[in-house]
Formats: sequence, structure tokens, C-alpha cells
Amino acid sequence: MKFKGEIFWQGDAGYEEARVGRIFNGRRPARYPKAVLFAEDEQDVVAAVRLAKEQGLKVAVRSGGHSWAAWGLRDQAILLDLSRMQTMAYDEATGIVQVSPAVKGGQTLAPYLEARGRMFHGGHCPTVGLGGFLLQGGMGWNCRGWGWAAEAIVAMDVVTAQGELVRADAQHNPDLFWAARGAGPGFFGVVTRFYLQTRPLPKALTQSTQIYPLDCWQEVLTWLQETHAAVDTRVELVALSLVPPGMDRHALVVHGLAMVDTPEEGREALALLETCPVLERALVHQVAQPTSFAQERQEQLRQNPEGCRYAVDNAWLQGSPAEVVPRLHEAFTQPPTAKTFTLWFSMAPLRPLPDMALSLQSEIYLAIYTIWEDEADDARCRSWLARQMATLEPVTLGQYLGDSDFTTRSLKFMSDANWARLQAIRAQRDPEGLFVSYLTSNPLTLNQNPWEVHRV
Ligand SMILES: Cc1cc2nc3c(=O)[nH]c(=O)nc-3n(C[C@H](O)[C@H](O)[C@H](O)COP(=O)(O)OP(=O)(O)OC[C@H]3O[C@@H](n4cnc5c(N)ncnc54)[C@H](O)[C@@H]3O)c2cc1C
Repeated sequence: MKFKGEIFWQGDAGYEEARVGRIFNGRRPARYPKAVLFAEDEQDVVAAVRLAKEQGLKVAVRSGGHSWAAWGLRDQAILLDLSRMQTMAYDEATGIVQVSPAVKGGQTLAPYLEARGRMFHGGHCPTVGLGGFLLQGGMGWNCRGWGWAAEAIVAMDVVTAQGELVRADAQHNPDLFWAARGAGPGFFGVVTRFYLQTRPLPKALTQSTQIYPLDCWQEVLTWLQETHAAVDTRVELVALSLVPPGMDRHALVVHGLAMVDTPEEGREALALLETCPVLERALVHQVAQPTSFAQERQEQLRQNPEGCRYAVDNAWLQGSPAEVVPRLHEAFTQPPTAKTFTLWFSMAPLRPLPDMALSLQSEIYLAIYTIWEDEADDARCRSWLARQMATLEPVTLGQYLGDSDFTTRSLKFMSDANWARLQAIRAQRDPEGLFVSYLTSNPLTLNQNPWEVHRV
């Protein structure tokens, strides 16, 4: 079969680089696709899906290569790498941008839109690909106020398990459109193009930052949990335990980023941040300062260095501050390495979700990025992370696919009703299981919290 793009079969020169060269996580899994195709266009994708069917192989997909588990790296599969498809086309009349899935949301799409006075609330780390990010929901800039990035998908082009290129939106193939907004790596098709509704670029992006010594963790996190639902919904609100720029040890950073058009609006939107009861203990206290997405992206790149080994996990937290905060003690104050960071991300007040596969969220998103360099530290770092997540179980509602790795830990990530509907659509759309679906150590316990399974 002839492709416009390049195909590397197992054993070919260049296969190993094709297999793992675009994977962000420095921990490279020992899973070996039969072939990796760098598709040049939609016809290549269609041809690869048909080839996989003929040869009795599965189909796996890679866009940005940033999934923690490297979901797309699967045995007995043709891995479709979409990195050579890089279309971006903005339509001024509608504000809709057409974009290929491997385009990097921050590094490539954001400057393209910013030059046109527009933005898309894509992922925080600039190098994340739009494909994986959007299919799992997409926790982009100001998710608490603007909603999930997948909510701004107007349509998509999808190559189905039958090898047909179709449009999926609210009117055409609505079952595919529903599933693609939340199924993540369980999606049964190849998205070759997204049509995304952009929004005006805020004219006066404004930030407040407070940096506390770690021993303030309990007062600060309790205050945040009591206050965050009342903070203006134009503000992205996070608390991080990390080594801030210019410092030599971990500290607790509270960062509010207001998506506003004037400095006055910024001051007003961020005002509640000035009510922290231990504000006089802050090492750094910046109030309503001008910033830019370019500057915010730089800091994201610093926090997420390339070439490192990562173990990442997350939890949707629920419960009162008295129930939740004490369980965050070690995660916030005893990081196993200098690069490790813990993220508390406000989603309050919780917005109702539209009818799409993504259906699990809570007011607090907690993610831990354990980051190190030396393979000899794997066991220590991974067991530290596992201990933090186990400590949080009594206040954990479930997991977000984006920061999950089901080969390590798999929780509930979707409502039961949506999970059943997703299985039904999959059975109809991909009856032979051509697409690889979720990579997990136990397919029978997918979408379950293990500690709830044996409850009567
Ligand atoms: C440093 C870093 C920071 C991050 N920050 C955020 C964040 O702020 N918010 C957030 O929500 N997430 C974040 N994530 C998580 C990230 O969004 C997910 O890992 C996402 O899967 C990455 O998408 P990708 O296309 O780069 O990954 P890939 O590994 O290429 O794709 C992941 C999987 O998605 C599916 N997929 C991808 N493209 C397609 C397609 N075109 N058609 C069909 N299926 C496809 C496949 O199953 C694929 O295996 C971050 C990850 C990293 C590494």
C-alpha cells in the first residue's frame, strides 16, 4: 500500500525513533506497534485504517505525544502519528478556527490566534497537542469560568472504523460528536480536523501572586477552599507547591489570572485574593499586575521540563475543608524531588456540563506531577505518588483522563449512564474493536473506584 507519508515497520531503520521520539515523558514504555505511519493527509489516514483491517491489526493514534501513559503506543497496532498534518485556518466571519489535531495548542495555535486578537482556551503547557487534550475534555485556561475546551468544539472530521471520512457535529453523526468530547483514548475513530469556536483575547490579562512558606499550607488551602466559589469567574485560580522562579526551595504559590479587558476590572476580579488570613506571612505579594499569555506559557515550560521522567496522577476532590485539607499535607510539604509540583485547581462554582461523554468533575482538581531525571529514582518517586493518592481516596470522587495513567491507577472518570452509552456507541461504530481503546492493567475494572467496588 502506498502512502504519501512515511511508514516504519518493526525492524526498519528509524523504527525506534518513530516509536518513541515524540513521547514527552522520559519513561518510555516497552510496547511495540507493528508499524508507525507519519500520515501526510486524510487520505493517508483512511488508507492506514483500511490496511490495519486487512492485516488484522489494531489502530492507535498519536497527536502531540503528551499523554502520560503514551496511550497510543500499543502492540499489534499501526500507530498513526499525525504530526505532519499542521493545518490552521481562521474564519473571521464566524470566529471558528479549523485546526489539525497535532497542532500544539499553546506553542502554535495560540500565537496564530493572538495575531488576530483571538484565543482558544487550550492547555496550559504550550507543547500539548490538541488531539488528546480535546478528546478527554481539555482543562484549558480558566476552565472554571469558561468551561471545558471540548465544549468549544463546533465540529470535527473523523475517519471511522469503516475507513470513511465523515463530519461529526450536532447534526451529522451526533453519536460520534457526543463520544469524542470526553472518551479520550477510548475514542473509536481518528479525528483529522477540529473546528473550534475561538473567543476574543482579553485586552488586559491581569495576575495576582502570593508566595508563602510551606508551613502556611493548612491556613492557605483552608481559606482557598472556603473562598474559591465566590471568586469572579473570569479568574483562573490555582495553588501550587513548587520551587518558584528565583527561589531555591518549594513554596506555596497562589496565583489568580484574570481574563479581563481593563486593569480596573482586573483589580476588582482579583480582590477576594486579598482576604487570605495569613497574607502578612507572604514572601511575595503581587496585586493585580499586567501579564500576557506568552509570559504565562514561559512559566508553564519552566514547570514542565522536557526530557525528564514523570509520574502523574490526579483526583477530583470532594468534602469540607476539614475533611480534605489535612490529606494534602505530605503532597504539599514533602515533595520527593526539586522539580515535583502539586497543583490545586479551582473548578468552583461548578458549571453544569452539556450532554457529552465527559461527565465527571468536582469543585477541586488536584494533580501531582512527580518529576525526576534518574531511572534509579523510579521506585521511590512512584511510591511517594501512590501514597499521596491513596491518602486522598476517602475524599476522591474520581479521576480526569488527562492526567491519568491506567496502567498505574484507574478510577471512575465518567458517569455510569455516560459510560454505558459510550460502550453502546462503540459496539455499533467499531464492532470488531479495530481501535485500541483504553490502555489499562485491568479492563474489567474500568470506570470504577476500586475502594467502592465491593460495597453493598
Ligand atoms: C506537561 C504537560 C502538561 C499538561 N497540562 C494539561 C492541562 O493544562 N490541561 C489538560 O487538560 N491536560 C494537560 N495535560 C494532559 C494532556 O492534555 C494529555 O496528556 C493529552 O492526552 C495530550 O494530548 P496529545 O495529543 O499531546 O497526546 P497523545 O499522546 O498524542 O494522545 C493521547 C491519546 O489521545 C487519543 N488521540 C490523540 N489524538 C487523536 C486523534 N486525532 N484522533 C483520535 N484519537 C486521538 C489517542 O488515544 C492517543 O493515544 C498535560 C500533559 C503534559 C505532558
